[in-house]
Amino acid sequence: MIKLYENNPYLREFNSKIIRIDKENKLIELEESAFYGKSGGQPGDTGSIITELKTIEVKETFKEKDLLLHQVNTIDGLKIGHKVKGNIDWKRRYKYMKMHTALHLLCAIIPLGVTGGQIGEEKSRLDFNADTNSINKEDSQKKLDEILKNNHKISYNWIENEELEKKTDLIRTMSVKPPKTNGKIRLVKIGNIDLQPCGGTHVNETSEIGSIIITKIENKGKMNRRINISLSD
Ligand SMILES: [Zn+2]
Repeated sequence: MIKLYENNPYLREFNSKIIRIDKENKLIELEESAFYGKSGGQPGDTGSIITELKTIEVKETFKEKDLLLHQVNTIDGLKIGHKVKGNIDWKRRYKYMKMHTALHLLCAIIPLGVTGGQIGEEKSRLDFNADTNSINKEDSQKKLDEILKNNHKISYNWIENEELEKKTDLIRTMSVKPPKTNGKIRLVKIGNIDLQPCGGTHVNETSEIGSIIITKIENKGKMNRRINISLSD
């Protein structure tokens, strides 16, 4: 399964082939796909798959180990080997790309472990391993604004698993291990302000995000500060 979004997160349309059909659960697997599979707090992509016969709705995309499973509204008439065209709901996905990159910037200004997170179209959140009052809303907002005054480019680099294990300081998420593709892990670098392994989709440069607003910081448990954000536009 080739994940086309790993090399080009801006790909909205692609050609592929059906390689597996799970009739009972209405799931389709494609030879390659640009649909992001729900993982790491980022929702799965929706959209459509166009076959020679008809257009099928993709209601959700899941990730199962290294596979992407497309949840569709119907599998009637579909056969393994059918050529298809995939179309992702770009408006929704682009919002997730901006939000996802914005959460990396939170990591850049708060040098603490991440315990969880969720990306949404209108708001997103990231939980840090921090005690009550250790993260100040106004200070954090100021730091974010400062970072966004400059445009930082996002770049990628693949490394071997053993290499990453030697660099444990790069792993920010405490509960989930970074995803692997063919045994390799992707490092995501934002200018010189953030570097961490991540399998999600990001924008090309931080100027695409607009401004990030910290809406509230909550205490969720003893060592858990939740930072909620929204984007300006
Ligand atoms: Zn990421």
